[in-house]
Amino acid sequence: MTVPSVNLVFLGGLGEIGRNCFCIEVENRILVVDCGIMFPEVDMPGIDLVLPDFTYLRENADRVEGVFLTHAHEDHAGGLAYLLRDVPVPIYGSPLSLGLARNRIEEAGMMGRTELIPVHDGERREIGPFDCEFIPVTHSVPHAFATAYHTPAGTILHSGDFKLDPTPVDGRKTDLSLMGAIADRAGGVKLLMSDSTNACRPGFTPSESTVGDALRGVFRDYPDQRMIVASFA
Ligand SMILES: [Zn+2]
Repeated sequence: MTVPSVNLVFLGGLGEIGRNCFCIEVENRILVVDCGIMFPEVDMPGIDLVLPDFTYLRENADRVEGVFLTHAHEDHAGGLAYLLRDVPVPIYGSPLSLGLARNRIEEAGMMGRTELIPVHDGERREIGPFDCEFIPVTHSVPHAFATAYHTPAGTILHSGDFKLDPTPVDGRKTDLSLMGAIADRAGGVKLLMSDSTNACRPGFTPSESTVGDALRGVFRDYPDQRMIVASFA
């Protein structure tokens, strides 16, 4: 018996921080997962941002089913308006991720070339031939997803960017038990794709809820001073 092939094509984001974008291919259809930008390095004067290489998607535009957004960080969502110029497709993601992405897409005048389709925690949905299950994960931006892709070749689990934050600000924790249940139900996970910034460094990243305490401490320690807050995301 031959097992139907499932292809993974990476267009950016491996071995670099930024422009996260890959394709999963089932039954000759393509689902693009994330479409981020990379911020320019010091040796890139005059460059505003770096995009994934869209050549493959341009050449196979008629096979692209849609884009799934794991979360709304710029290095995962910032390239959408550029992709839509060449490849008009629907975009799936959490309502928050879509809301944040919408700003950039509207700014670029590309809303007419897409449809924003919300998906929800724990939902299982078919996007063309892609049988997807959306798992809540904590990250430094709310409403991030890990995703299980139930493919003809087995279940692929993609963690997305994540942290294991036991006290997230919004109380929405990483659903490890759902991951376990999916693995049990599927008879094991065929492929785990997992990475997160600083994943190779030992130790823990503090919970996002410590940010509030830190700010309160600064307010207390520097009364009557002006405070400027900068946020990467
Ligand atoms: Zn992220």
